[in-house]
Amino acid sequence: MKSVWDVGCANSLYHRALWSRRSVEQRETFQYMRRAIEEGRKAIPKCGDNPPVGCIIVRNGAIVAEGHTNAPGQPHAEAMALSQLRGVTEDDAVFVTLEPCAFDGRTPSCAKALIESGIRSIYVGILDPDPRNNGKGIEKLRSSGMSVEIGVLSDEISAELDCFLGKAP
Ligand SMILES: [Zn+2]
Repeated sequence: MKSVWDVGCANSLYHRALWSRRSVEQRETFQYMRRAIEEGRKAIPKCGDNPPVGCIIVRNGAIVAEGHTNAPGQPHAEAMALSQLRGVTEDDAVFVTLEPCAFDGRTPSCAKALIESGIRSIYVGILDPDPRNNGKGIEKLRSSGMSVEIGVLSDEISAELDCFLGKAP
């Protein structure tokens, strides 16, 4: 009896391998973003009206830095995580629940800080509807050549952050 593997075998094996590698990667992406969501909860209540954002940095499968929103005027989640990093490797990836800020407000722009850090890869949960941001942070990251993936666990993150968004001065 002929099995399906006798026909177009090499090609299907290749695609099966590719697919399972992708699904492993996707599962890990979700796991890391879930850790970033948990990290963000540590911001409540000190973050005040600012969204309680969480950010983690992953290197070779290990979490090497964590950050969350601090009191107004204090470091944002990304800045807090970056401050814990010792050097940057090609493998480093940032997972952050909200689009990094594109503008210098009470604190310096996180998009700029991420670009200057030399990190090459970032996963973002949702866009920030603040008109000073709203895609501008993503645009900055992308135009620096960074690999940016948006929308990881966006439903869960929206449920947590929606009531904070668009409120901060
Ligand atoms: Zn920021």
